[in-house]
This record gives sequence, structure tokens and C-alpha cells, in this order.
Amino acid sequence: MNGSRPTSTATHLRCDDCDQTRELGELVTVCPNCGGLLETEYDLSRVVDLADHAARERGMWRWRQLLPLPPTATELTLGEGDSPLVSLPRSARRAGIAALAVKNDGLMPTGSFKDRGFALAVSFAHHLGERAGFTYSSGNAGASFAAYCARAGMAATVLVESVANDAKVALITLHGAEVHRLEYDSSAEIFTAVEALARQGHHTYVNFLNPIRHEAMKVTAYEICESSGWQAPDVVVHPVGTGGGLWGAWKGFTELHALGLIDRLPRMVGVQSTVCAPLVEAFDAGREATGRTGDPSATIAQSIAGDAMIHGGRRVLRAIRESGGVAVSVDEQEIADAVRDLGREGIGVEPSAAVSYAALRAGRRAGWLPESSRAVAVVTGTSLKQPAALQAIAPPVVGRVRADADALSALLAGRSR
Ligand SMILES: *Cc1c(COP(=O)(O)O)cnc(C)c1O
Ligand SMILES: [Zn+2]
Repeated sequence: MNGSRPTSTATHLRCDDCDQTRELGELVTVCPNCGGLLETEYDLSRVVDLADHAARERGMWRWRQLLPLPPTATELTLGEGDSPLVSLPRSARRAGIAALAVKNDGLMPTGSFKDRGFALAVSFAHHLGERAGFTYSSGNAGASFAAYCARAGMAATVLVESVANDAKVALITLHGAEVHRLEYDSSAEIFTAVEALARQGHHTYVNFLNPIRHEAMKVTAYEICESSGWQAPDVVVHPVGTGGGLWGAWKGFTELHALGLIDRLPRMVGVQSTVCAPLVEAFDAGREATGRTGDPSATIAQSIAGDAMIHGGRRVLRAIRESGGVAVSVDEQEIADAVRDLGREGIGVEPSAAVSYAALRAGRRAGWLPESSRAVAVVTGTSLKQPAALQAIAPPVVGRVRADADALSALLAGRSR
């Protein structure tokens, strides 16, 4: 692509739990030694002029120095990255804070923030010669995975959770994946099954367990800081399902800080739905890991609905605490109001994506959001992802009018200018 661009500075994988290291050029999901999550490490001293090199290109791959794709590998792309950071002064005033912007990741190729992660993870697997892969999904991960597998010419199998709506499932099959609906009683059963399958190594398994995928989530942080003149916001608010998005963004901010590109770190705030909030329960109780709690079928925030979290949500809890942030929940009414209010700002989102904005609206009252805050809410998926919720939340049509100049003129005369 760009011959002069410096290559990846990733060096190896390290296990969160037993500290063993592994080479990068192999397909692993969890640590073969202990089953822990693997983290990609970098030699940051080899990163050269990150901001200058990044400024010469557009899209996610301009950050390749901080992504673990080997130099000889081909980048699969559908145009992911560089979503807009939209400043919303009216919303900031209503929330009672200095500044509020939304990072609109609904504008990715398949309509959700999953695309950065799957562009990278599928490129990586494809480079290592994989020709088939699987993931499980409430819808968005599946559509993204299917699209990048289609791009790579790989066979995709997507196992969908019960909350996956028909439109999302159709998007997955549209991109050529084979879809099966999962039967289970708790999200924890899914984790156990897919972890076992991944360990057997038959197919590449791409999701939060995959140590490559969430590296691309760091790019959200790079983009936010670059768009803000290399300054981090005071607060970054992120919806939390598995926690990969929040964790990845936090890692991205810490890298920019270590590289001296930003001089302070944001507080990270994780948001879930009140009826399904294992993260918030563990955070409030001061625990290191989440338990099983809540009812995924009881919320319209389908993309973050789970009654358990992968690996007990340990990484996400750690990121939130390290950053001095909080985990909070918002109720169904607050989520619907946030979808409607964002709509009035010109931003169309699915309910799960609105929880970050909803949390900011409540943050001053709840006490964790100082008045001086400059906040960014990451909105993770577009409105059309959940047509039924959109139709239930959006205001109704006013009435009927004849296509006739007089009738139209009378109607428009009643509208104030
Ligand atoms: C996947 C998803 C989330 C949750 O992201 P995690 O990385 O699993 O925490 C939030 N919002 C939308 C729209 C999603 O598709
Ligand atoms: Zn280990």
C-alpha cells in the first residue's frame, strides 16, 4: 500500500494470568498454558513519528505501527476507521458539562464499531493461511465478521444469540455467512463452549477472546485524540457488552500517553442496561470479576445484553479502575430518550449505542461527572440495525395530505418559519 509507512512494532503475546509469552505468528485464542487472555505487547521505542505518518493517510490502517499485522500481510479493507467526532454543544448544555461530542462509529462499513476489529482479525487469520472461521454474535459482530470473510474469500460460520433480530441476521447471511441460532440458558454456556472449540484449534475463532481483534479497538482512541488536536477528553463513555471496545480504547489512550502524544489520560466510564448489568454490580461491590446476573431479554439494548461476561469482565473492570472511572447503568426509559435525543441532534443510533449518551445525561446528577468535563460518548451502531426499536421510539407520522399545491400550501402555512 504505502511503501514508506513504518511497519508493526508488535513483539509478542503475553498472558494476563500466568505471564507466559508467545510468538505472534501463530493462531492462538486463549493462553495454551492456563487458559488466560493474551495481550499483544509492542516495542514502543521503535514507533516512528506516529502522528506524522498517520496524517498522510485515511482509515484504520494508517495506525499499522501499533497493530499486530505482520509486515508481509495484506490489509483487508472495506473503508473502516475515521468515523466522525461530532461536537454537540446543545447536548453539553443539557447535560450541564463543558463539552460533549459523540464518536459516531455507526458510520462504519457494516454499521457498527465492530468493523475495525474484524478488519484486523480476519486479515491476520487470512495471512496465516486460515480459510474458515467462526464467531458468535448478537448480530453486529456476525455481520462484520461475515463481510470481512467475504472480502478475504474465507468461509464464515456465525452462531447467533437469542437476542439477534431478523434484520441483523439477514445482514449476516447477506454477506455469505452460514448462520445457526444458539440454544442456551446463560451466556456463560456460550463462553465455555466456544473456548473449548477454540482450544481444539479446528477453526479460527474471532471474538473478545481473540488477542488480535481488540488491538484494532485502540484506533478509536487514536482517532479521538487526533481529531482533538492531540488531546484526550476528560471522560470517555463506552457501552459495554464483552468489554472489548472499552478495554481496547483504554489501551490506545495509554499507548499515546506513553509515546508522549497526549499529556493526560481520560477517565473511562462503562455503561450497561439496568436490567442486565453484571459489570456495574461487580464494580459497585468492589469485586475483581463479574458474576451471573440480569435478564438479556428484558432490554432493548440487544448488543450489550448478556447475563455474564467473558473472563469475568476482569480487564474491563481493571481499565475502569486504573483510569479513575466508573461503571454505571441506565434504565429502559433513559435509553429510549437517548435514542430520541440523539436523533434530534442528527445522529441515528441503535439503543445499545445510545447508552453512553444516556449515561452522560445522568452523570451530573449521579455525581461522577464534574461540570468542567469535556466528554466523548462513543456511539457504536447505527439506527437501522434495530428497525423495530427505531419504529417504536421515533415519533409518529402526523397525518395525510393530498398531493395538491393548495392543500400543501395550507399545510405549510401552519408551520412556523
Ligand atoms: C458489540 C457492541 C457493543 C459492545 O461491545 P463490546 O466490545 O462487546 O463491549 C456495543 N454496542 C454495539 C452497537 C455493539 O455492536
Ligand atoms: Zn497463561
